[in-house]
Amino acid sequence: MTDCIFCKIIQGSIPCEKVYEDDQFLAFLDIKPATKGHMLIIPKDHSVDCTQMDPELGASFFRIVNRLIEAAKKGLGAKGCNLGSNIGAPSGQEVFHTHFHLIPRYDANELSHWPRQESSQAEQVIIAEKIIASQ
Ligand code: 5GP
Ligand code: ZN
Repeated sequence: MTDCIFCKIIQGSIPCEKVYEDDQFLAFLDIKPATKGHMLIIPKDHSVDCTQMDPELGASFFRIVNRLIEAAKKGLGAKGCNLGSNIGAPSGQEVFHTHFHLIPRYDANELSHWPRQESSQAEQVIIAEKIIASQ
């Protein structure tokens, strides 16, 4: 994709701080890190989000994730990590090339999670039924 910023990073026309690369994936530091060592892991084949990514890449992806988590622990002193992907503009996705955030964690208080709300069991049953019926 000619106008995709992450495709340009893959091609090398936009620089990045690379932390891992193979034939299928590239991982580099997020330019605006949530914590020290915040990484983005991206497939080299352009897709807009992980619903469009080749699912066969999943095993390789998780091998890379685990490798980078270990590196964050060993190299940066991380105690844990958050792994996530924003899918669609309402989720906060800003770059429409599949990417996974790997955010090393050092302290439980350094980032706040999304707010949580109460949900009744009756409401949970209805929601679960809708999800099951739509698969
Ligand atoms: P999203 O909100 O789409 O899930 O996250 C996109 C991420 O890409 C953001 O955390 C943002 O800081 C990062 N980002 C955007 N442009 C660049 C760039 O040119 N280089 C790097 N390294 N990260 C970028
Ligand atoms: Zn792209």
